[in-house]
Amino acid sequence: MIYKFNMNCPDCATELSVSEHQSGDIVLCKNCGCEMELLNKDPLEIRVIEEEK
Ligand SMILES: [Zn+2]
Repeated sequence: MIYKFNMNCPDCATELSVSEHQSGDIVLCKNCGCEMELLNKDPLEIRVIEEEK
């Protein structure tokens, strides 16, 4: 069974659909390119990975 859910990017609010398949539980926003780490699925908990600039 593939676990799937929708979430909104904390940065640009684009709706993203995420599946458990995603490697390393890293979610990449297709709109702004920000990376989020999936900490917990239920309840949903994410952490934005800050990029060094
Ligand atoms: Zn985004």
